[in-house]
Amino acid sequence: MSELSFKAAELDAGDQLAEVRSRFVLDTVSDHAADAAGVYLDGNSLGALPAAVPGRVEDVVRRQWGELRIRSWDESGWWTAPERIGDRIAPLVGAAAGQIVVGDSTSVNVFKALVGAVRLVEERGGDGRDEILVDATTFPTDGYIAESAARLTGHTLRAVTPGEVPAALSDRTAAVLLNHVDYRTGRLHDLPGLTSAVHAAGAVAVWDLCHSAGALPVGLDEHGVDLAVGCTYKYLNGGPGSPAYLYVRGDLQDRFDSPLPGWNSHAEPFGMRPAYTPAEGVRRGRVGTPDILSMLALEAALDVWDGVSVAAVRAKSLALTDFFLECVEAYVPEGRVESLTPVRHEERGSQIALRCSDAGDVMRLLIERGVVGDFRRPDVLRFGFTPLYVGFADVERAARVLGDVLASR
Ligand SMILES: *Cc1c(COP(=O)(O)O)cnc(C)c1O
Repeated sequence: MSELSFKAAELDAGDQLAEVRSRFVLDTVSDHAADAAGVYLDGNSLGALPAAVPGRVEDVVRRQWGELRIRSWDESGWWTAPERIGDRIAPLVGAAAGQIVVGDSTSVNVFKALVGAVRLVEERGGDGRDEILVDATTFPTDGYIAESAARLTGHTLRAVTPGEVPAALSDRTAAVLLNHVDYRTGRLHDLPGLTSAVHAAGAVAVWDLCHSAGALPVGLDEHGVDLAVGCTYKYLNGGPGSPAYLYVRGDLQDRFDSPLPGWNSHAEPFGMRPAYTPAEGVRRGRVGTPDILSMLALEAALDVWDGVSVAAVRAKSLALTDFFLECVEAYVPEGRVESLTPVRHEERGSQIALRCSDAGDVMRLLIERGVVGDFRRPDVLRFGFTPLYVGFADVERAARVLGDVLASR
């Protein structure tokens, strides 16, 4: 046993979250020889399947839909699922109940949040604010949507890196759209500091939590974030295409003016009135009929969080990424990869991004050997560390296989 695999065994033995892994469907060591079991390091793209989901989905389909049919809107709680599941996500992102609604994709929610943010500013007079700032390093969809939101609202869009935001803010800024963790590099941005800078400039802060929710503490309420969005299929394990969520801070809800006011957000949805009156509360973030099958799969997936503290998840996430960097240093030939992920814990999300020439081929070989991360053009290997089901022996093995692959090329 090498020194690092010995250390991995020790770290696994002391891991308080180790038993949570059994709540997921994963390759198990008993299925294969220990070294042939897969190591899944792509939970930052698609979380693994929680074991409770298939049975719940079967019940939703066979009993709730198959037998109760339309009665399930009331009797199975379908109608209220978006707010109910929002309240399940709330503690994971530091929000009190009643501020999160689940539904639609992240892209659609970015649109609702950003136009809603601009309208909050206009509603209080606008003060001539005609500019939206967007994270220049953002996941592309947010940038595309921001461009369209700016065009529709007659604002100018300016792309700046999160670090440049404080200097770019002015009395022209209406809203700022930022990613909490950079999807490419895994850099964690300073949500408390940037939110207060945005507020000091009189603007509204919109955060995209796709790569932070479920991986680290967010503290939406504590830090006074105005609006936020996030997906549920990454660290929240909701399944492919599971619905996203929208957070509207409680004291802003009665002024939140959604650009997509569907009948589900009407004060009286079954009144079938020609004129629109928005619902009270966060329900006004809804649009149309919710995607119940995906939404209830997500609800079942959230059971894995029972008794799990986000602080423990964060501590393990940092230990995993630290240990991965230590193993990469030991196993990977000198100079062959360069980490793009910050060394400082305060600036690190839950993934490690390694720049590597021929990264596409390297990732293909890793996947052939059971180590699943992903490749982001042009030259980045991404490895996501999901503390609920990744262990330290997985990390050691992934780095060792990476070292072998790189040494043999
Ligand atoms: C994954 C991700 C998205 C995905 O948007 P969808 O509409 O769910 O496809 C958006 N923004 C960020 C920052 C992401 O990481």
